[in-house]
Amino acid sequence: MTDNLVSLPYRLRPDFLSPVEMAFYHVLAEILKDKYYVFPKVALTDLFFVARPNENVQHSSKLLRKNVDFLVLRRDTLKPVLAIELDYPKQTDHRPVDSFFDGAFAAAGLPLSHVTVQQTYNLEELRSMINLIVLKGPNPTTPFFTHKDYSPICPRCGITMVLRFDKDGPHRGQKYYGCLNFPVCIETVAVKI
Ligand SMILES: [Zn+2]
Repeated sequence: MTDNLVSLPYRLRPDFLSPVEMAFYHVLAEILKDKYYVFPKVALTDLFFVARPNENVQHSSKLLRKNVDFLVLRRDTLKPVLAIELDYPKQTDHRPVDSFFDGAFAAAGLPLSHVTVQQTYNLEELRSMINLIVLKGPNPTTPFFTHKDYSPICPRCGITMVLRFDKDGPHRGQKYYGCLNFPVCIETVAVKI
């Protein structure tokens, strides 16, 4: 048994953080050490959930295998207050511009800052930039939870309902929530706008 476990092909990576990421991590951790923790490489699937996942499958799959470079969390509550992506200077960065990150963070109301990699960082500048963002708090126009984030529960069966639409008839194209147990259960719930 032990032999089998040892023969599995997993090895510890020697490069969890690159030297550039490590250098920035130390700067951030030092600036923020009194009130905040800095977590590197946080998976977006651990940070966000997808509202109404059965209607938003393509948005769920976009989160997979993506992580944000650094997440800043309050020491007392571990509540995320800010995410930071390290950007590489244009001449060395050949990756396509990815606006997905900015859109996803904006939608979830978590501030995302881009910091360009530098030889040395201006600590005061960085500290005041972070303080400004953290003090402002999450985007107040983005509610954390709304009724629209969840599919309703079938009042008869107690299970999640799915979005359906009438394929024909007088209400053709009209959307509603139907029970997963259809046709045994014919409960429907109107879609709230
Ligand atoms: Zn039902």
